[in-house]
Amino acid sequence: MKKILPTVLALDLEGTLISNAMSQIPRPGLHEFLTRCAVLFPRLVMFTTVKEDKFRQIARLLVEETMAPAWFADIEYVNWQGETKNLGFVPDAAVGDIILVDDFEIYVHPGQVTQWMQIEYFDYPYSEEDKGLVTMLEKLEMLVSDSK
Ligand SMILES: [Mg+2]
Repeated sequence: MKKILPTVLALDLEGTLISNAMSQIPRPGLHEFLTRCAVLFPRLVMFTTVKEDKFRQIARLLVEETMAPAWFADIEYVNWQGETKNLGFVPDAAVGDIILVDDFEIYVHPGQVTQWMQIEYFDYPYSEEDKGLVTMLEKLEMLVSDSK
């Protein structure tokens, strides 16, 4: 059986890549995670409840602090509305080609649970030993290699 290669990786911000938009603590392994994802997927987008201007501010700071690769400041940002992260809001992409990495099930759009990969919530006290991104990267590596 040939699997379909997901071509778009949609990333949540709070609880996934960083603590939250207030404290903005980068999750351990963030730079490596983003760098590898950019190799694994042709297209990366941000799909977050944080407004774009705030997100850009956070992203620029992470880049300045070398916690994220330079391109992260200019990553595509998905404009969306509603209660759930409907992947139909990602421009020029089929929902079935998108993987959403998010810590919070409540944002998964009805009927799109197969596109969702749940990452463990990055929680207080924001341990340096947190393995959420490392574990997710392993899953994404497997997903992409399985579909080739
Ligand atoms: Mg989240």
